[in-house]
Amino acid sequence: MGNHDVVVAGAGIWGCTLARRFAEAGKRTLVLEKRPVVGGNVRCETDAETGIEIHSYGSHIFHTHIPEVWEFVNRFVKFNGYQHKVLADWKGKLYYLPLGLALVNKFFGTELKPCELAGFMADEERSKAVFDAFFRGYTSKQWGRAPEDIDPSIIKRVPVRSNYDVNYFNDYWQGIPADGYNSLFERLLDHPLIEVRCSSPFELAPGTDSLERPVYYSGPIDALFGYVFGHLPWRTLRFETEKLDMRDYQGTSVVNYTDAAVPYTRIHEFKHYHPENAAVMNYGKTVIMREYSAEWKPGDEPYYPVDNASSRELLERYRALAAKVSNLNIGGRLGGYRYYDMDKSIEAALAVAI
Ligand SMILES: Cc1cc2nc3c(=O)[nH]c(=O)nc-3n(C[C@H](O)[C@H](O)[C@H](O)COP(=O)(O)OP(=O)(O)OC[C@H]3O[C@@H](n4cnc5c(N)ncnc54)[C@H](O)[C@@H]3O)c2cc1C
Repeated sequence: MGNHDVVVAGAGIWGCTLARRFAEAGKRTLVLEKRPVVGGNVRCETDAETGIEIHSYGSHIFHTHIPEVWEFVNRFVKFNGYQHKVLADWKGKLYYLPLGLALVNKFFGTELKPCELAGFMADEERSKAVFDAFFRGYTSKQWGRAPEDIDPSIIKRVPVRSNYDVNYFNDYWQGIPADGYNSLFERLLDHPLIEVRCSSPFELAPGTDSLERPVYYSGPIDALFGYVFGHLPWRTLRFETEKLDMRDYQGTSVVNYTDAAVPYTRIHEFKHYHPENAAVMNYGKTVIMREYSAEWKPGDEPYYPVDNASSRELLERYRALAAKVSNLNIGGRLGGYRYYDMDKSIEAALAVAI
């Protein structure tokens, strides 16, 4: 691995943030990425004809309330001010998520005031009707369980907004990089002390107990040890992308299909992430992507870790193995076997001692 002070294995947002920090601290940094391109699951592709930025691994909206993270990303890209709103399709009618006055008033045909919502929804039949329409089918599709096995107590944990705020996230700062997500990764890695090698997976020879120089690895923790204890379980996603001969298909970026009878969970329409780009918005074609959730099997892309007693125990066994290898540091969503939003991934990388 030549004359490098440190190796970053995995060029997702965690690894690229770390690589930048090492380089700015004067360390010669080698970035090894298994895929032919950097960016991890935030990677996008631009459709050559329409100029539409397609989020290859599902819609990614940057949102944060962490000042250090917002400052950090703004050193590299400008955000376009996009604010995320999600609609739910239930039996052909559209409702604004999250659960709030807009959804409840449309669903029940009421004109409730903010102070009336909690009392109205305390009624068990109403709360069950909302749960059945918007949460039961969607959750069952997402986690591959029968709708009747979805515990109605979930609804007690769903935050209810007693206003008409239909912004999906509570975070103050939101947006999409105006020049696209790939530009964020290109600029993070554009430093004279960073060398990037794509299609170059980092591997640990069996029995290794010490690494020559510090390695920061964000690939799957079980893969690093050759799955000696078996695979950690994941949910995977399958995407069906289609280019349509129309300017606008659904009028918004994401519609969730909450009925268990509809096989996909949501439809993404990517041009809506760039409302500032008139040429893309007005072009007579659009690209949509249907998202299907499925059980993961070896070889599939891992998306959501499955948190249960046996996966936690397996994870601990892999962590114990990792702790025995000196100079090995593991992080990121695959290494940590945890769902992190992008801002939390950056926050974690900013917290690593350099
Ligand atoms: C469907 C979906 C939608 C999401 N939407 C949002 C959103 O809207 N907003 C948000 O903030 N977050 C979102 N996220 C979360 C976001 O994707 C993660 O925060 C982010 O991808 C984590 O970055 P990472 O670097 O940890 O992992 P990754 O992006 O997975 O990067 C890890 C990299 O390591 C590489 N690698 C693996 N093994 C090796 C090896 N042996 N050697 C070298 N390289 C290796 C992989 O190829 C990959 O490039 C979403 C996640 C999912 C699943």
